[in-house]
Parts: sequence; C-alpha cells; structure tokens
Amino acid sequence: MTNSDLMVRDLAHIWHPCTQMKDHEAIPLIPIKEAKGIYLYDFDGNRYMDAISSWWVNLFGHRNEYINKRIKEQLQTLEHVIFAGFTHEQIVRLSERICELTGLQKCFYADNGSSAVEVALKMSFHYFKNEGKTKPYFVSLTNSYHGETLGALAVGDVELYKDTYKEIMIQTLQTPVPKDRSKEATEEAIRALKTLFEKYHDKISAFIVEPLVQCAGYMHMYSPSYLKSAKELCEEYGIFFIADEIAVGFGRTGTMFAYEQAGIKPDFICLSKGLTGGYLPLSIVVTTDEVYQRFYCDYNEFKAFLHSHSYTGNALACAAANATLDIFEQDKVLEKNREKIAFIAKELQKFKDLANVKEVRQTGMIAAIELQGYDFSERVGLQINQKALQRGIFIRPLGNVVYFMPPYVITFDELKFLIDTIFDILKEL
Ligand code: PMP
Repeated sequence: MTNSDLMVRDLAHIWHPCTQMKDHEAIPLIPIKEAKGIYLYDFDGNRYMDAISSWWVNLFGHRNEYINKRIKEQLQTLEHVIFAGFTHEQIVRLSERICELTGLQKCFYADNGSSAVEVALKMSFHYFKNEGKTKPYFVSLTNSYHGETLGALAVGDVELYKDTYKEIMIQTLQTPVPKDRSKEATEEAIRALKTLFEKYHDKISAFIVEPLVQCAGYMHMYSPSYLKSAKELCEEYGIFFIADEIAVGFGRTGTMFAYEQAGIKPDFICLSKGLTGGYLPLSIVVTTDEVYQRFYCDYNEFKAFLHSHSYTGNALACAAANATLDIFEQDKVLEKNREKIAFIAKELQKFKDLANVKEVRQTGMIAAIELQGYDFSERVGLQINQKALQRGIFIRPLGNVVYFMPPYVITFDELKFLIDTIFDILKEL
C-alpha cells in the first residue's frame, strides 16, 4: 500500500471536514499508517511532527502506552451502554474527579465539543424557562468560535464559517473582544459589555466565552482581568457565564483550566478535546447544583432536560479520560510544562526581527506568529503548511497566523527543531 493507492480510494468516497475538496487536485491527501508519540507516519515512509496535536486534542502523544493499557482493560468489561437509566464505574469516577477539579457539582455528558456548547446554551435558556422567564438571546465575543452545529455556530463570529448560514441562525449578540491584553483594551471591552447587558439583560440567558485564547479566531489572546470583570457583570445582571474550555482546557494555557487565571467560577464549563488525551470523542458540561435543582421536580411538571446523544458517556472514552487525568496527577504535567512554556517564550523572541511578522503571541503551550504583507488570496498559510510538511512538520496556519500547540510530551530538542524550522520557512518566504 502506498500513499497514492489510499488517496485515490479515499477521494472516490470521502468528503473531508473543513476542506475545499478541489484543493486535493493539487495538494495530496496524506494517508497515515501509524502514529507514535508526537509523530505521524505515512505509507511512503515519511514522518511528520504533529505540532498542532491533531486539532488540539492530543496531550500525551499518539499510542500512549498508559492510555492504551487503560482502554484495553476497559474493553474486557464494558465498551458502551445506554446512559439513560444506566451508569458505569468509569463515568462515576470521572465525574467525581471533574467536579473536584472545577469545584462545580454536576456533569452532563455528550460526545463532541459542539454538542457540549448546544447543551450549555439549551440548559441556560431552559433554566429561566423553568422559572417562567423567556430569555432568547445569548451573548458572545466578536471573533469567537464555539463549533459548527447551528446553535454553536450562531454564538461564533468567524465570518469564514458563519456567514453562509446567517439566515438560519438563532438570536445572538456579539460584544467586542478586548483587542489586546492592555488595561485600556480590557476596560473598553468591559464598558461595551455593560452597555449591552444594561439594554438587553432581561432577554439574555447566557454569556459564552473562550477563556484567554480564541483559538479558531486566529489565536487572538486577551487578559484574564476581562473574564473577571465580565463574570461580575454576569452576576450583577442575572446572566449565566459559560466558559468554553474545549480548546484551552487541560493545561493548554498553563493552568488546568484557563478561567482559573481570572480567579472566577463559571456557571457552566464545556470540556472536550484534551479530555480523553486525544483518543476518543467525549464532552462534558459541568454545572452547579443550583442549575440542576431548577430541573429537579416531579415528571409531570415537565421541567426535565430531555436532551440526549446515542453515545453519551461512552465507557471506552471515559476510560481514556480517567487515564488522561491519571497522567496529569502522576507526571506533574502542569509543573513540567512551565519549563517548556518559558523555553517557547525565549525561542519566540527571534521572530520579532522578521519584517513579515506583525505580532508574536503566547499563552502557555499555545504560540502564534501573525504575519503581515500577504493578501488573504495568496493563501500564505497553505504555502507554509506545504513547506513545513517537506521538512517533517505538520502545522495548519489559520489565514496569516502560524501557530503551534504541540502534545506535552514534546522534548526541548523537538521544540527547538519545530521553532527553528518555522523561523527558517518564514525567513525564506
Ligand atoms: N469550542 C471551541 C473553543 C473549539 O475550539 C471547538 C473545536 N475546535 C469547538 C467548540 C467544537 O468542538 P468539536 O469540533 O468537537 O465539535
């Protein structure tokens, strides 16, 4: 079997995500034969460093021995069971651990990030409905991304993904994201949020944010103090605060969850991606007892949250999630990442000298280099992606923003190679 054999068979029947399929007339699809640690291997014997953790999901490498072992053990007893009327040991343990980590009390499960966002939106709206109030609006930040299903897309604000579907969106309001990390930008954005809340608070169920980094929004970064003030405003106006930690959770920003850096406690937290170490689809909406109690009554009052997905709470996925949390505990991951974060910061300095670099940004294990002087139609990101592949690195720039977000098992030497390679590519552009 070669790359080209599989590519031909693939293109005969498969429509890939987030892809203009015609691009594959010129750009080969890469069939992956196996993966180990931070590397992907294709059928022609090429090796690529997975520097974006396979869409930000992988934390401890591919085919991680410990996670593999735990999933195999789980396979011996239970692969999956309907999650209404039944439960299992892995999910009970996982929920206890997630509640302990977040300080919240209740976990509702789904099987991907977008579905978790839908759950948080529906649940916050439904909470008020159960109190006899109808609050049909949601507020989100400009440039935000919360997923692709219609509700999640509606609270998102990345034109490229959303504009086509604008006629079929639910009602949302966007408030400006702080334009940088400065005090002035933070205060300006908070003033705008306050004005919006003053005007519409009796119609708004929830405010949803990606704490600290808008990942799909070109890795835009802002200050924790914005989150702190925004949470205070939510409390003042009786609006729920939803932290979408799907991309930034599980250590990406340096702390276990990004919202921790603001010293706040959200009303809802959406988790997915890194939750299973990048192994299996699973998501959780973590919330408070207070929210839970608003739905808790006799059946005939019809206040239950009747939302479900067939694969909710899959036992194999929960085993992978428990194994992931074990690794965090056993290997002191957050502590060890601190050195890598400092190393990345030091190595990024040199990019500031390049004429085609507009800005260099970093929050924890997420680093972004924004380019200048290229028209969107030049697709410079795609050119960089192709050049990097030739040098054994897989990155997938967002427009003119080159970024990396590697699995935490990357070594210092590998980080150096990654950063130096990106630097050389940008210098030669
Ligand atoms: N929220 C955020 C912040 C995300 O980055 C993503 C995915 N990139 C999602 C939601 C959607 O998750 P999924 O792709 O699993 O539906």
